[in-house]
Amino acid sequence: MSLDRAAHDASGLARLVAEAEVGGPPPDDDIPLYAPRRQIYPQSVHGTFRKIKWAALIVTLGIYYLMPFVRWDRGPNAPAQAVLIDFPGSRFYFFFIEIWPQEVYYLTGLLILASIVLFLMNAVAGRVWCGYLCPQTVWTDLFFAIERLVEGDRREHMQRDRQKWTVETYARKGVKHVLWLLVAWWTGGAWVLYFADAPTLVKELATGEAPFVAYAWIGILTFTTYSLAGHMREQVCLYMCPWPRIQAALTDEYALNVTYRYDRGEPRCAVTKANELRAQGQPAGDCTNCKQCVHVCPTGVDIRQGADLGCIQCGLCIDACNAVMSKLGRATGLIAYDTDINIKRRMEGKPGFVKIMRLRTALYAAIIAVVGGVMLYTLATRESEGISIIHDRNPMFVRLSDGSVRNGYTIRIVNKRLKKREFALGFNGLPATLIDFVGVPPREDGELWIDVGPDQTRELRVVVTDYGLPPPPQTAVVFRLTDIATGQQATARDHFFAP
Ligand code: SF4
Ligand code: SF4
Repeated sequence: MSLDRAAHDASGLARLVAEAEVGGPPPDDDIPLYAPRRQIYPQSVHGTFRKIKWAALIVTLGIYYLMPFVRWDRGPNAPAQAVLIDFPGSRFYFFFIEIWPQEVYYLTGLLILASIVLFLMNAVAGRVWCGYLCPQTVWTDLFFAIERLVEGDRREHMQRDRQKWTVETYARKGVKHVLWLLVAWWTGGAWVLYFADAPTLVKELATGEAPFVAYAWIGILTFTTYSLAGHMREQVCLYMCPWPRIQAALTDEYALNVTYRYDRGEPRCAVTKANELRAQGQPAGDCTNCKQCVHVCPTGVDIRQGADLGCIQCGLCIDACNAVMSKLGRATGLIAYDTDINIKRRMEGKPGFVKIMRLRTALYAAIIAVVGGVMLYTLATRESEGISIIHDRNPMFVRLSDGSVRNGYTIRIVNKRLKKREFALGFNGLPATLIDFVGVPPREDGELWIDVGPDQTRELRVVVTDYGLPPPPQTAVVFRLTDIATGQQATARDHFFAP
């Protein structure tokens, strides 16, 4: 291994120690470009991080599968589903929030927020997202649980796979794949329920009356879930996901990561050997080389080799090692959330420390507060009516036989309230003008009123005719929309063109 590579590896020293024990790494020329797939049989484990992962799995999957059935009363003219992506109505509903197509910038804000939250999580405690919350991790964890239930834990499963396959082996594998497919099918089924009224769509799906696209999406998501969580598993994290690469560039020496404390663990010794060495006053590490930390790892990583792209930092090796240490009566935490800087400090006889608040984390927190605050403010103060204008392009103006000049516009009026509203349209900018709707007669008093249905937009043509002195070639004008009942106003600016 070159010095550069060792320096790049946050725990290169641990890797060098391990390599020294086996006589060093192979020359670079001998390293194959593609590693053959190794079947991983992760062993079940109990402990704090396993409990956290179960809790994360139950909460995230519970939300995903059940959310479409949560109801939210928005009144008689709106859907009653709490979270709904309504393509026909061009709306996104999220509880009390309703996003219109022209407000897609909220989605941009959400994406920015999500990425900065990810950066913050990474700066505080490494790949928390990967280890506990990423859909690939959560579904793979569920598929592993099913596999263990049907095919047994690591040892039993490995033994059965190595022996000649019997009817029982085939039967167990068959049951496992059927259960995986059921989970995958329900995952795809839950997905389509976010795009239509869930109870109605469930009935339609059951009776074969649902649109073809719903069946197609269920099929696609059944296939992807079954493939990604059942078969590709850690390969997705190792070869498909960009986040481990980005994360490695974003981390620093203060970030808490799942770390093998090689300052305490090395040199590795069996228990009796360690006792003998210690009795002779020679160094002996706490690691017994039992490999429990490797056996429980869902991606097959040996954390003792140092930081690894394949380590999703799920903390299961911490649980496994803590169990070993507890049995031996040694202090737990040989593998723990720790920083490289702490290891170096302890080797220098200095105490370790955790520094969550630093420039990087403060900056991320500030960006989250600002972006979140702006989004909340704009959501709370956004108007329930709107007007947009497009000036006719060709021709820009028309001179009438009496010498007056006419401009045409297309206006779109937005009513975001869940009841029908009446609006008056006004116009400012030119003194001697007449404004008319095309196809909508004015009231008897000459006022231009237009009604717009609940939660709808209405588009119409407007012509403005100037009868005054010849106007300048270009005049800034303002269209003003006023809610007759409440007096709430919205304006749009454009121009009046003349020869
Ligand atoms: S579980 Fe702990 S003691 Fe066993 S090999 Fe891993 S680090 Fe060493
Ligand atoms: S090395 Fe430990 S923390 Fe990393 S993926 Fe494996 S079990 Fe999880």
